[in-house]
Amino acid sequence: LRRYDSEYLWHPFTQMSEWENAENLIITRGEGSYIIDSDGNRYLDGVAAIWTNVHGHCRREINEAVKEQVDRLEHSTLLGLSNDRAALLAKRLIDIAPPGLAKVFYSDNGSTAVEIGVKMAFQYQQQTGNTQKQKFIRFDNAYHGDTVGSMSVGGIAIYHEVYAPLLFPTIKAPSPYCYRCPLSPEGDCHSCGLLCLQELERLMKEHAHELAGLVIEPSVQGAGGMIVQPPGFVKGVRELCDRYDVLMIADEVAVGFGRTGAMFACGKEGVTPDIMAISKGISAGYLPLAATLTTRKVYDAFWGAYSELKTFFHGHTFTGNPIACAAALASLDLFETDRLLERLPEKIDYIQDRLQRLMEVTHVGDVRQEGMIAGIELVRDRHSREPYHWEERVGVRVCLEARKHGLFLRPLGNVIVVFPPLSISLDELAILMDGIEASIRSVTE
Ligand code: PMP
Repeated sequence: LRRYDSEYLWHPFTQMSEWENAENLIITRGEGSYIIDSDGNRYLDGVAAIWTNVHGHCRREINEAVKEQVDRLEHSTLLGLSNDRAALLAKRLIDIAPPGLAKVFYSDNGSTAVEIGVKMAFQYQQQTGNTQKQKFIRFDNAYHGDTVGSMSVGGIAIYHEVYAPLLFPTIKAPSPYCYRCPLSPEGDCHSCGLLCLQELERLMKEHAHELAGLVIEPSVQGAGGMIVQPPGFVKGVRELCDRYDVLMIADEVAVGFGRTGAMFACGKEGVTPDIMAISKGISAGYLPLAATLTTRKVYDAFWGAYSELKTFFHGHTFTGNPIACAAALASLDLFETDRLLERLPEKIDYIQDRLQRLMEVTHVGDVRQEGMIAGIELVRDRHSREPYHWEERVGVRVCLEARKHGLFLRPLGNVIVVFPPLSISLDELAILMDGIEASIRSVTE
């Protein structure tokens, strides 16, 4: 198996994790919070299969829903037809989404869900007489995916600089990163009066005439390093979008479906974006599924028939796949029957306690948390906040060390990520946090 893997498989971001691949685990089974490799070793899944498996692995109820659906209808199309699962799920999604979102456009991965949002916003402005409004605000440290459109609105150079000539022009805004604030290096964000919002307002005022939309990961920038935004930021962004007539596109691909402790991060902030992209947790990690939700106001600008330019020219083959939608419906049922969100606060508190303890470790510079997401930033020197050089691969080394403790983790540079299944038990969380602490100590001390 290992030979097939190394000989035939092209892994994502290979060059970035080359030496990690030397020890690739081949996962053959999943069970609750654990993944099991081809040698029978069990690992607690600290990243929920890249931020998807809200109910852990192989949940019986979802397995059964998927099996039943396979026997009924495996695929159809939403182009000129509908299917029962896609329609039922659309209704359920609108019921739980921030109020005001009214329409669901399906796709099958997070990058595309964002890209669809960008296309919608662009075309909406064109069709409502704002033909000058063609540009987008993007944030530093933002990650929205790997397609050309979603890269264009991203803010992490390493992911897209090689493709720069292919990307469309945007306006980049500083994002709040309180530990390394680009605007007030000494201040902390809670007393700085949200300088990042002030800077955003300056940019939006200057460019309002040409701005179609703004793309934001609300509450937490995930791939940027689990960077938690200060209170009031998301609401402030919403207000600025209203003031300057800019469509707010919220990328809830990572933070949606309970991650922040609420169903959606925007909902937690009392904000309704104009467009919301969701994926990952939507089908609980079972099948590729994504959706872009929007308001009736946006939808109503797209009334054209196929031959007319007002049509939204977008439609994927696997859009609204009934097996994926069946998994998503079963997952939403489990949110209710397991009372998943109601049971999160004690887990969130537990993570918070353990993060406080981690601040005693010499090379832990910053710990940040929003609900069931945490980032632990490792630094060479905690007083100067000097980072480790990327070549030292401290994050990767900690995650490899964690395997010896029976954990599977993935770092984001020097940030250790805590992103377990929402269904994780308190005992399992203790194992996770013990293993993280021990691994950080053994690599850095
Ligand atoms: N947006 C965010 C916030 C993400 O975290 C990700 C994936 N990590 C994406 C978009 C892209 O999703 P996908 O990998 O499914 O294309």
